[in-house]
Amino acid sequence: MGKTGGKGLSLAKRLYTSRILGLVLGLICVSVAMYPLDPAPWVWGVMLFNGLLWPHLAYLWARRAKAAYHAEHRNLLIDAFMGGFWVAAMQFNPLPSATTLSMMAMNNVAIGGLRFLLVGSVAQLLGVCVGWLIFTPAFIPETSQLQLYACLPLMCFYPIALGWICYRQAYTLGRKKRELLALSRTDSLTGLLNHGAWKDQLEIEFQRCQRQQQGGAIALIDIDHFKSINDTYGHVAGDIVLRQLSKMLKQNLRVSDVAGRYGGDEFCVILPDLPLGSAAAAMDALRDRFATLGYEQNPSLKVSLSIGLAAFDVCHADATLWLNDADQALYEAKTTGRNRVICSSNDRPHHELLDSV
Ligand code: GH3
Ligand code: MG
Repeated sequence: MGKTGGKGLSLAKRLYTSRILGLVLGLICVSVAMYPLDPAPWVWGVMLFNGLLWPHLAYLWARRAKAAYHAEHRNLLIDAFMGGFWVAAMQFNPLPSATTLSMMAMNNVAIGGLRFLLVGSVAQLLGVCVGWLIFTPAFIPETSQLQLYACLPLMCFYPIALGWICYRQAYTLGRKKRELLALSRTDSLTGLLNHGAWKDQLEIEFQRCQRQQQGGAIALIDIDHFKSINDTYGHVAGDIVLRQLSKMLKQNLRVSDVAGRYGGDEFCVILPDLPLGSAAAAMDALRDRFATLGYEQNPSLKVSLSIGLAAFDVCHADATLWLNDADQALYEAKTTGRNRVICSSNDRPHHELLDSV
């Protein structure tokens, strides 16, 4: 119910302005067409009510309704019914009738698609029948010049207003879509790229390296004994450690480097255009800095990192093999004592293994 109310309220607010404009301009168009027919005072009353008071009443009605969305649909059907009613009252004067009906049809299709256009057309037809029954049945297919001019404000300004409303909606939707996309690519705890988004970047970097026959390195970073940190200091402290590491990655990497959270306590970095030796030095500096970090709430807490590095190699058939090399290097860092940076064994003939323990 709450959901429907929220959706309906924003619809009611949007329709409030457009209804005020449409019905005031419609009042000019219809009253000039009705004037020569010398309508009864009650008809003028209904006309004034419909043109000037109804938009406010409709808005209040929708606001007070339990489900504003349904109330606004009912209001739109009343609009359509009244449109048909005035067409019959104007004795089918062609231009005011066509203007009234087409503006309402445009409104209905913009709000509820083809289905609502159809339902609105039925309401318009019903309005025509009721008008036909109430007023002297007549069909005068003639529009005077004054009546033509009276239709122009509605014809010119209402489509602009509706177009503007639709544009604003499309703009907001586009912005929300971009925000959602960014959210779907972000790890909520650390603000880094999440697993899927980082792997997309890895694929892009892999293809760039292949095209340009040059490459950088990737690093897999894992927190040592993170489970026991959680067990000893609690998950909140564990989360602080994860956030600290991501903060350090953001602060210490180059703008072109791409850091992500691979999952759990494992992080990943793409270091484009960086020789493996420099990448290892950068990662070792990071490892060193992280090991000396102090934690206000848990002064005894010390955290170390194991890091596996792999350089791009033309022999890699795909990005997964590149990642595998980094994973194996990380495994080696873990099994040879932790708190160290290890380069993939495939790269070792050319590069020194960096063991900082
Ligand atoms: P190793 O040194 O071999 O890496 O051991 P480890 O304990 O770090 O590794 P393990 O994979 O056994 O434990 C990772 C732990 O990370 C287990 C899981 O409960 C914890 N973890 C995963 N995601 C989160 C998180 O978002 N917050 C916290 N606090 N803990 C998490
Ligand atoms: Mg770990």
